[in-house]
Amino acid sequence: MDPQTVFCHNSACPARGQVGKGNISVHSQKDRRYICHVCGKTFSASKGTAFYRLRTARDVVVIVVTLLAHECPIQAIVAAFGLDERTVVSWQERAGKHCEKVHQHLVERPRDLGQVQADEIRVKKQGGIIWMAMALQVSTRLWLGGVLSAHRDTDLITALIQKVRACTLCRMLLFCVDGCQTYVQAIRSVFREPIRIGKPGRPRLRPWDGICIAQVVKQYARKRVVAVKRRVVQGTTAQINTLLQRTQGGGQINTAFIERLNATFRSRIAALVRRGRALARQTTTLYHAMYLVGSVYNFCTCHRSLRLPIYLPGNRRRWVRRTPAMAAGITQHIWTVKELLFFQVPLPPWTPPKRRGRPSEAVKSLIAQWYT
Ligand SMILES: [Zn+2]
Repeated sequence: MDPQTVFCHNSACPARGQVGKGNISVHSQKDRRYICHVCGKTFSASKGTAFYRLRTARDVVVIVVTLLAHECPIQAIVAAFGLDERTVVSWQERAGKHCEKVHQHLVERPRDLGQVQADEIRVKKQGGIIWMAMALQVSTRLWLGGVLSAHRDTDLITALIQKVRACTLCRMLLFCVDGCQTYVQAIRSVFREPIRIGKPGRPRLRPWDGICIAQVVKQYARKRVVAVKRRVVQGTTAQINTLLQRTQGGGQINTAFIERLNATFRSRIAALVRRGRALARQTTTLYHAMYLVGSVYNFCTCHRSLRLPIYLPGNRRRWVRRTPAMAAGITQHIWTVKELLFFQVPLPPWTPPKRRGRPSEAVKSLIAQWYT
């Protein structure tokens, strides 16, 4: 137990989320608890991880979650480990929720995306179908998030585009999508900024500069692609060619990268396999499975096309393997599933309470020490 690497989890504590400030010490080695000397509260070493208040040995949980993230059927885990089916499902839910938090903290940060591809998958569910829409940054193969809905409508697409917006800086950005017209409307309505002029009422909204939209429309005959049409909806051909050169080294407008990602998700979530017998019962189960698989893909899976060569003397070459998160500059190493589940998302820093008048001496000293 190392008190220098943990932080206080009490949301009312002025020292919450701050690491290495000397306010934490070990409260009990036996129970694995720390104490914060600012608020006086104790907390478990597993607080904020996927293992909080779990009784089962962690190694077993890590193995089960790793299997779940790589398309192992729940029934197989039940038979092999002698666990209850509900226990396995609850671990998947717990891991999915944890991965969603990690994703929001590490991936949903503004960055220069260059090119984004988006697509939807049709998933069979008990008593109906469900749509899963996902987006990907092409240059790093980073999964930017996904949304689920019972209908393939404006709400689904808008929610996805809002996820993309949470990950982007106001720079040149190319969207490559399928022929669905909803994308164009959703991108235009989400990528706008209000112009505030100090007058009452709703401010006018100005569209972002440098947003390009391209569509790839496939024509089918007897379930086979017979023709592919590429359409530029917004932006100039020169801008699009520059972005294609920067993000995929030239080539044509395509949706191949997101289709490859869809194939990865289809192979890793049993309910997504085409013509399979596994059905998702609950939308929430599928949602947690999606975040678990997506985060394991981003942080733990090496991508062959992302590897970098190192040239050694004597004309020899070595390859450095990279995950999408490494290519995006989020981390420097390949994570294990255990590391992902143990990652503690820091709390936002404390802000002093807003009160009228001059702050008291006690509040002043707290602000001097903890408010940064
Ligand atoms: Zn505290």
